Amino acid sequence: MVYNLINEKWIPVRRANGKKEFIAPWQVTDDIGSNPIVSLDANRPDFNGALIQFLIGLVQTTIAPKKDRNWMTRFTEPPKVDELKTAFEIVSRAFNVDGDRPRFMQDFKPDKWESNEIDKLLVEIPGDKTIKDNTDHFVKRNSIKRMCLACSALALFTLQTNAPSGGQGHRVSLRGGGPLTTIILGDTLWQTIWLNVLNESDFLDKYGNSSLIDDASIFPWMGPTHTSEKDQLTTPEHVHPAHMFWGMPRRIFLDIKSGESGNCDLCNQNSSNLITSYITKNKGTYYGSSWHHTLTPYRHEKSDLISIKGQPGGITFRHWLGFVQNDRKNGNEPAVVVHTFRLQRQPSLENKKTLQLWAFGYDFDNMKVRCWYEGKMPLINVEDNIRENYESAIEQLIRVSELISDNVRKYAKEAMFTRPGDVKGDFSFIDNRFWNNAEPEFYTTLEKLRVAFSDGTDTIVEIKLKWLNTLFRIGEQLFDEYSQSNQIDVADPKRIALAHRNLRKFNQKNNKQIMKILYLPDKPTISKNK
Ligand SMILES: [Zn+2]
Repeated sequence: MVYNLINEKWIPVRRANGKKEFIAPWQVTDDIGSNPIVSLDANRPDFNGALIQFLIGLVQTTIAPKKDRNWMTRFTEPPKVDELKTAFEIVSRAFNVDGDRPRFMQDFKPDKWESNEIDKLLVEIPGDKTIKDNTDHFVKRNSIKRMCLACSALALFTLQTNAPSGGQGHRVSLRGGGPLTTIILGDTLWQTIWLNVLNESDFLDKYGNSSLIDDASIFPWMGPTHTSEKDQLTTPEHVHPAHMFWGMPRRIFLDIKSGESGNCDLCNQNSSNLITSYITKNKGTYYGSSWHHTLTPYRHEKSDLISIKGQPGGITFRHWLGFVQNDRKNGNEPAVVVHTFRLQRQPSLENKKTLQLWAFGYDFDNMKVRCWYEGKMPLINVEDNIRENYESAIEQLIRVSELISDNVRKYAKEAMFTRPGDVKGDFSFIDNRFWNNAEPEFYTTLEKLRVAFSDGTDTIVEIKLKWLNTLFRIGEQLFDEYSQSNQIDVADPKRIALAHRNLRKFNQKNNKQIMKILYLPDKPTISKNK
């Protein structure tokens, strides 16, 4: 029997009552009335990130809503399991993991290529050079020897979707190496999928060549690979828009002959078909930079769109600009689905409730993975009439946080070292603590701002000043902590006192730069009757 990703129960999920189980993709709405499936539940966070994109891609490809009205109907009345099954079966021929070619996410015409052990499908497993240099302390080597078909398929999809630069001619993903993804989270898994699917006409018009409807234009493994021996590009004009969810930059073929039985080293499930190796070749599909993926934020640089990548330091409200609302200063804009949700869909939801935005991605240093980051932010419903002022005030709060965060790091370093300018090393841990500590208060402040703008009350300046106080307080705490820390080169009370004075001198409400960012009046006074 062929292992098929539409028919098999391979997706780990959790139901509302906490029960974990494995489902086929079309079962996402199973028992949605009484015990719905609420989330994915893979044993690796990056696999959850890949699985949700697999499901969104599958639904966008097969049963996207025709118009806004159809979107809303399906949101409130999810399709039945049978309906999903019928819709997904139409493309099931593209989802065989083993058996005759073509196979899911694998090259159409494999040959006598270089063989790799199966663990190299996992992005964190170090390459040969790292192993030779013995610098792979990030990940244990030799711990994953055998993988079941489900894990192999998922690892393959995760790699193709995130592919970092992999050495000479090993191409990066359709969104570049290690793209950042943002997903709107609903109450059930179905809602989470549906919230991130665009209306068919919007999707087909803007993101590729919708006249190309053959299998291989959507699922690249269904035909000969668009190779790139001479760096030939594959652009959205060459394929169907849905291709964006199924990009295949790497030429890989699982070596199923090597199959053996036992427990999978990743999921621990018993399998009679464990895979231990695969073959690969460079110069696969070269996607270039003309793609606009609907689940990723982008930055405008001249006439180019650059996808935002995972970045060091984690994901906090410092990324609000560009993830949730436009960052006008830097030209960053949220993912298309986030825009669509906030401007078109959220206002028509019954209770206009706040949903969460789930942002995640790897932080790659070239081909080496440093970390996996994820974080959540609220998507607050904002009335159109206050949106501009509200968002502009939020931008000010974040800009002033950036300024103060920079200064806290600068003066903490001044306290810690005699010649802070000469000290090498990454001090971003101070920034990270600053943003993390300020985060709860940030969201409280947003809600206060929204209420103030909605009610037309004149408390905006007060709210900004209170936010400033929060930032000053957190800055002081961190300064104290780091200036007393044992990282100090030679403790010098005078130097610490001087640095502290400088920090205080800067952290003032009447500091010109701060006043300018926050549009504070010349003499900030708290209004008596507010
Ligand atoms: Zn497994």
